Amino acid sequence: MNLVTVKTFDSYFSANIILTKLHSEGVECYLKDEYTVTLDPILSNAIGGIKLVVKAADESWVKELLDRYELDFINAATCPKCSNNKFTYITKPGATNYLTVFFTWIFSSYAVAPYYVYHCENCGYECDRLPEKTEEGVD
Ligand SMILES: [Zn+2]
Repeated sequence: MNLVTVKTFDSYFSANIILTKLHSEGVECYLKDEYTVTLDPILSNAIGGIKLVVKAADESWVKELLDRYELDFINAATCPKCSNNKFTYITKPGATNYLTVFFTWIFSSYAVAPYYVYHCENCGYECDRLPEKTEEGVD
C-alpha cells in the first residue's frame, strides 16, 4: 500500500483536530512523527513536522476535504474593522518577499519561506492569525 503525506503541522493540537475530522469522514489516516515533534519541538523543522499520512488512492479526496476545512475555518472569522467574513490567505507584498523571490531565483535549491497574512477583502485589514468570530466586531 502506497502512503502519501498530504499536510504537515507544527502543533499536535491542530494535527489531531484534523485527524479526528478525517476519521469521522471515514478516511483511513494517521500522524507520522507526532511523538517526536511533541517531545522535542526543536526537531520539528529538522524532520519536517508532524505528517498527516493517507493512502495514495485517497489523496485527492482528502485534499478536497482539507481545502473545505480551511475554507470553513476562514469563513468563521470576522474582521475587527468592518465585520466582514471574507478573508483570504495571501503572501504579504513587501521587501522581504521580493528578496525571497530574488534569492530563490539565484539559489534555486535554497528558498526562504514567504510571509503570509490573512487579508480582509472588504477593508484590507491584515493579520497573522484569524480574529475570532463575533456578532458585532471588535473595536
Ligand atoms: Zn475588514
